[in-house]
Amino acid sequence: MRPQAKRPFLLRRPSHLIGPLAGLLAGLLLLTGETASPVIAVVLSTTVAALLNSGTIERLRPRPAPGLTEIRPMLEAFPFPVAMRDAAGRERFANALHAAWVTENQAEIHSASALRRNQIEDTSALNGELVESELFCAGASTMEGRYYLVRKQCIHVDDEPLVLVTVTDLTAERQARARLQSVLAQQLELLQHTNHFVQRLIDVIPEPVYVKDERGRYVMINEAFARQRSQNPDDILWRTAKDLAPDNHVARSVSDEDLSVLAGASVYKEDVSPHPITGEPRYRIVTKGSCMNAEGQKVIIGANFDITQRRLFEQALEAKLEQEKTQHRRTQEFVQRIMDLVPFPLYVKDAQSRYQMVNEAMVRNRAIPREQLLGRTGMPEESGAEALYRLFEEDGAVLAGQHVLREENGIHDYTGREYWHVLSKDCCLDPEGNQVIVGAHIDLTELRKAENELKSSLEREVQLRERTQEFVQRLIDVIPDPMYIKKGGGVYVMVNQAFADYHDRKKEQIVQAPVPLPTSPATTTLISMQEDEAVLAGGEINKEEHTVRRASGEEVFRIVTKRRSVYVDGDPVVVGIDHHITRWRQAERELKRLAAEDVLTGIANRRHFRQETERALSLAARHAQPLSLLIFDLDHFKHVNDHFGHQAGDEVLVETVRRCRETLRQSDMPGRWGGEEFVVLLPQTSIRDALQVSERLRILLAANPIATSAGAVSVTLSGGLAQWHAGESLDELVARADAALYRAKTGGRNAILSAEADVQTHAA
Ligand code: GH3
Ligand code: MG
Ligand code: MG
Repeated sequence: MRPQAKRPFLLRRPSHLIGPLAGLLAGLLLLTGETASPVIAVVLSTTVAALLNSGTIERLRPRPAPGLTEIRPMLEAFPFPVAMRDAAGRERFANALHAAWVTENQAEIHSASALRRNQIEDTSALNGELVESELFCAGASTMEGRYYLVRKQCIHVDDEPLVLVTVTDLTAERQARARLQSVLAQQLELLQHTNHFVQRLIDVIPEPVYVKDERGRYVMINEAFARQRSQNPDDILWRTAKDLAPDNHVARSVSDEDLSVLAGASVYKEDVSPHPITGEPRYRIVTKGSCMNAEGQKVIIGANFDITQRRLFEQALEAKLEQEKTQHRRTQEFVQRIMDLVPFPLYVKDAQSRYQMVNEAMVRNRAIPREQLLGRTGMPEESGAEALYRLFEEDGAVLAGQHVLREENGIHDYTGREYWHVLSKDCCLDPEGNQVIVGAHIDLTELRKAENELKSSLEREVQLRERTQEFVQRLIDVIPDPMYIKKGGGVYVMVNQAFADYHDRKKEQIVQAPVPLPTSPATTTLISMQEDEAVLAGGEINKEEHTVRRASGEEVFRIVTKRRSVYVDGDPVVVGIDHHITRWRQAERELKRLAAEDVLTGIANRRHFRQETERALSLAARHAQPLSLLIFDLDHFKHVNDHFGHQAGDEVLVETVRRCRETLRQSDMPGRWGGEEFVVLLPQTSIRDALQVSERLRILLAANPIATSAGAVSVTLSGGLAQWHAGESLDELVARADAALYRAKTGGRNAILSAEADVQTHAA
């Protein structure tokens, strides 16, 4: 039962409504044009059916229910086909349009299948359903296919349920829809292509990119976005951040941000938040902006660039850098400590010659605090322009690869002490790869001082040695005998003046001169060298040598002494002295001669004559050879002395001996027996031969006066001859000869008498 609601004003007089309503509907239909007409027709037919079926309609009409007669005009006025059928399928009404429609589309409407379907539909409609079916008809006259919407509805006419059939021509609408659909499809396709293209485009972007609509829903995301959230794209799309984020706070801030972006702001910020899955810090660059999409809607386009790796890498890099810095600092400190351990000044300078590192020794040496040294160029002594120029020039050369190593000597600025040091400069790369100069001042002061002391003491030593050598030289030069010092191989290292004089050379020519000395014969040199070897081996040489010098024929006697010694340089040497004893030997010989000779005449004295005659006697005895002896005395010699003087007497004696020697044979030996009495030994001479010689002498003297300083002196001699008798002594022999002499004197002088009875002289 319908509720008894108060009727609306217009519906209180429904009979007045039907005409205008139908007119209104028709006008609407005309106004809206062809495309809208099916809609209007549907609305109209539905409205009519509703009006006819509703209580309102019921109340509009008087009892009984409205009859066909009453509604026919309205239905006739309908601008589309309308018909009514009863339950038996009989047509109870059809307007003209319907009749025309049926005629036109006879084939489709009255086909067997259509009739069968019609029947079923009618039944359904009569059962209260609204049945709608579409029908396509070829169009018998027009041959133009058209679409129709056939609606069936139950209406009660004259209390009889009838099927109200309305037909709406859908052709224009269908065609318009088809055109619209085709345009839409094209647009859709374009949109889809655009979307696909955009999707592909953003999928290529490796960082999360999304598009949100005005309500903050994700309408497009790229693969990276889904991957980042480890979610299926479908679980993200069409959801808001709030839907997805469990944390309200985050969702709220996101939606606030989205609103401001939609209002025209843009976002570019770095964001760090825990990773939704791993919880590890995640660094992102978040960008957001808005624009219109292809459909003209405002959208938010956002991108999250995950820079976690980069940040972590940066952090790792920073940590590494810090570590490197620490390491570098430690290395620097270590290098500094090592440098500080070096006991001499050491520094590192940069390419601009500024001190970068200095060690303790340098600080001490310079007496300048380390802080003041660092960064400084050069030292106070190098402050002048020229000194600085030299410094830069040298440092430049070092940087170019030259190694500087030089010794410096000067007076220390602060201590005032003289210093020596070796300055060494070289170039290398520091840990940052910059060229640096490494310099060191190696202090040589003590060394140089010690060296200088050593040098001066060495000089003293050398001087001493030289003086000693000079002294030794002078000493040995004083020695009148040749003296020398020889090394192995016969090299003279020192000789005295006498040695030099003996060899007719200068000392300097002999010392270190090649051996042998040109004055020495080869055999002598050989013997000398053998002796030297023996001496160096520990032997001694002591010998007397008698030589005759080749050049001068000078006779030399010497005692050669050689001893081993050690020279000033530590080498073994032969020290030799040729002790010349020539004068001694000559003096000896002279003495001997003097002992044997008569001083005035030079012939054997009585003693020597006796010695020699004794020897001759034994020889004569041994060989049984004859031997004679003459003894003669100058006659009246006292008178010569008295008359011509003693000097003239001496001269007469000397000349008499000369003539005697001249007359005698080499083997004969004259001797002075005493005063002006002489003896002559005649070995291997018989008395007869002896008598001849003696006579020759006597005559020579007597016939030739002797020229003296006091004038010519004529002298004669008287002599006695005796031949030695075997077994006879010298004295006996002399005595016999002397007896003969006596006889000659007494016989008148100037005669030679024989002691032998069988042989007598002419004079005798
Ligand atoms: P007589 O014929 O008898 O021998 O006579 P005389 O004068 O020679 O006598 P006597 O033999 O007795 O004297 C020797 C003298 O000779 C004495 C002495 O003065 C001299 N007389 C001896 N020795 C030397 C001498 O060496 N030189 C010189 N000038 N006179 C000497
Ligand atoms: Mg006499
Ligand atoms: Mg005499």
